[in-house]
Parts: sequence; C-alpha cells; structure tokens
Amino acid sequence: MKLILLGAPGAGKGTQAEIISETYKIPTISTGNIIRAALKEGTEMGLKAKAYTEKGELVPDEIVIGIIKERLSEPDCNGGFILDGFPRTIPQAEALDNMGIAVDAALSIEVEDSEIVKRMSGRRVCEKCGASYHTEYKKPQKDGICNACGGNLVIRKDDEPETVLNRLSVYHEQTEPLKDYYNKQNKLLIVEGQDDVKDTTALVLKAISEI
Ligand code: AMP
Repeated sequence: MKLILLGAPGAGKGTQAEIISETYKIPTISTGNIIRAALKEGTEMGLKAKAYTEKGELVPDEIVIGIIKERLSEPDCNGGFILDGFPRTIPQAEALDNMGIAVDAALSIEVEDSEIVKRMSGRRVCEKCGASYHTEYKKPQKDGICNACGGNLVIRKDDEPETVLNRLSVYHEQTEPLKDYYNKQNKLLIVEGQDDVKDTTALVLKAISEI
C-alpha cells in the first residue's frame, strides 16, 4: 500500500502513521522527521531548512522533493509506504506523479483549527529519539521522560503558539488544495479526527481497509 496522510499540523498524522505502519508492516516516511534529524546533525540540508522550519514555513519544494526521491529509492519502500507530511504543495504532488509513483489513496484527517491549537500546546517530543507524546492524550509513563529511550521530553520550537498559527495558515493556503488534487484522481479519503486517538484510529483503519 502506498498511502499519503494529509491533515493540518497537529491533526494526529504522526500517531496514526505509526499505527498503520505497524499494522501493514510498511515504513512511514516523515519529511519533518528527516529535516529535524538533518538540523540536529547540522548537515548542509539541515542548515538550509533551519530558518523555514523555525518560522513554521515550508522548506522549498526542491529540497523536500530531493529528500523524498532519495528516501523512496531505498529497498524498504518496495513493499509500500506511508508519507507523513509530504506532499505539502501542488508542485510536490506533481513531482511524486512525475516520479511514476502512483499512490493508492490520500487520507485526510480533519480537525478544527481551534482544537489543533489546544492539542499542540500539550505536544512534547523526545529530544533523543523523536517519539511524540501529549500531556493530556498520550502521557509518557514517567513525566517528562520518553518511554522508548529515556530521553527528555521537550516542546518542539515550531510547536510554540505563534508558530502554530503560522503553520495553520500555511496549511490552509498551500496544502489544503491537495485535497482537491487527489479528489480529482478519485483517491481522497476523509476521516474526521476524534477526541480519542483510538476512535480516530478505528476510522482510519476502516477507511484504509476499503481501498
Ligand atoms: P512536520 O513535522 O511534518 O510538521 O514538519 C515540520 C516542518 O518541516 C514543517 O513546518 C516545514 O517547515 C518542514 N517540512 C516538512 N515536510 C515538508 C514538506 N513536504 N514541504 C515543505 N516543508 C516541509
């Protein structure tokens, strides 16, 4: 299965991607995670991306398209994959089509902006391994500590309230038109994000099983 996850930042794509990934035994490719790793390592690509991500803006298309091209050519993608956070613009979607990659579906997880702002304020990530948590919806076993690796949980710089509002407006302007793009290809699936993550997962897995 080749699946794109669409949805505003904070709509829960990452969490659902992890579950779909385990269920279908296919890798999740998150451009956000790849960019954050590059930032941490201080690579050339990371340095180029830094100013954009910190302001909540999109990294230029040619950079992320390059990242995806390279990642999708790795052997673990042969049996399918989930794209979390890519494409985010029409040119990125066109680039994917031009690579000859036909996705089976683009699944959009829909959540109101006001709810997103509330959720993002509680979001925490492990500074060591990048695993994500929430102070209300996905608590770690030990306060402030990652279950998986024992690293410290921190607020991502781009989850600060002002940046979140910017990321939401960028989403509506540049990414939401992709719903129309995939609808025209008859590939759009819509799931309403629920308060309880498990309820959203049930809807997501049902939608995917019908592809
Ligand atoms: P995410 O974790 O998916 O919200 O991504 C974090 C940040 O990385 C975004 O706010 C962007 O600055 C950048 N980014 C991730 N994916 C893309 C993409 N497909 N196109 C442009 N910028 C991206």
